[in-house]
Amino acid sequence: MDSSSFLLYANWKMHKSPKEARDYIRHITQMVDSKDQKRFVFFAPAFTLPALAEESASSSFGWGAQNCYFGVQGAFPGENSPMVLKEMGATHCLVGHSERRKLFFEDEILIRKKVQALLQYSLRPVICVGENAEERKKGLSFKMVEKQLSGILKELVFPDSVCIAYEPVWAIGSAQPARPDQVFEMQKYVKQLCESEGKKLCFLYGGSVNEKNAKELSQVPGVDGFLVGGASLDPQNFFNLYLCVNS
Ligand code: PEP
Repeated sequence: MDSSSFLLYANWKMHKSPKEARDYIRHITQMVDSKDQKRFVFFAPAFTLPALAEESASSSFGWGAQNCYFGVQGAFPGENSPMVLKEMGATHCLVGHSERRKLFFEDEILIRKKVQALLQYSLRPVICVGENAEERKKGLSFKMVEKQLSGILKELVFPDSVCIAYEPVWAIGSAQPARPDQVFEMQKYVKQLCESEGKKLCFLYGGSVNEKNAKELSQVPGVDGFLVGGASLDPQNFFNLYLCVNS
């Protein structure tokens, strides 16, 4: 992928108050050229989203939630509606992050329903997949990713490409990113899966991306962008990562 269109998606997880998000966006807006801002998407915690929406309004940054429910409105206390997300002006939403799968017991059926609901509201789901360390050791990486994706790819219709973030669980927050050859193999595999269902792929890699490894990983053929956790929390760090990718 051409480095001038490489995507940089920031998963803040449960970090950043509304004030912190405003300060962050003001800071990074001064550094990133306006023509490049559309390459960035920020995923904030739900209570921070209105501040993020307001602060991003005069920029071309994308923004979205880290999760939403599949129901649109009703007796779902504590959940967030894709309809409301759309009304607020969000562009994207993460779905199936491995920490949500693990901590909140999200399974493939629930994740598929969430993806479907987001598509109905013309929001772009970023579908997170990846094997854990045990599964990789047993040679089950492809099988696990196939299991996480097959229902989605078979049953749902996407208006353009399917955005998939490959985030091996063992690479997240571990300072041990996947090797470029491992990322390449998975990209190739996921592309074949998508092609067999007549779908185009937008492939992101996530898991311990930082300034030291960003350049090499961004050059892996077929990788369209990164989903970045820890290294996206400080605007200067995230900007430096963008510079590495561009260099
Ligand atoms: C993530 O959790 O989505 C992630 C990629 O985290 P980190 O970059 O910190 O490994």
